Amino acid sequence: MTFGPESLRARGTGQASGPGDVDYRLVRKHTLDEYRRGRLSRLDVCDAHPELLRAARNVGEARSEDCPICEDPTLTLVSFAFGARLPAHGRCITTRKELTELKRAPQESTCYVVEVCTACAWNQLVRSFKLGKSS
Ligand SMILES: [Zn+2]
Repeated sequence: MTFGPESLRARGTGQASGPGDVDYRLVRKHTLDEYRRGRLSRLDVCDAHPELLRAARNVGEARSEDCPICEDPTLTLVSFAFGARLPAHGRCITTRKELTELKRAPQESTCYVVEVCTACAWNQLVRSFKLGKSS
């Protein structure tokens, strides 16, 4: 299994919150509700791609809240950009400078922000937005 935008679980359609911006907060809430009602198993929601987990451990930005599944303080945010001039497996964005560079790039790319728990592998797309040309 290769790592790509499809590896970043959305589990639903996000809501447009601006041109090229999609917010997945409601999808996240719905997923957690389904999990609490027993309609989704822990295996369904804690299935982060190994590449995503690796990025979360190495460069993940710690979140102030605990993991909604295992309640450990191991929740992190990871940003990946995918685009024509970027590697097929995306580029992990770790600094504001990298983000600014992509914003100024003549080619369009899409940045995906994913919430990942490094303890139980819970993962959920939080938002996505376009960078480059059109923004
Ligand atoms: Zn967890």
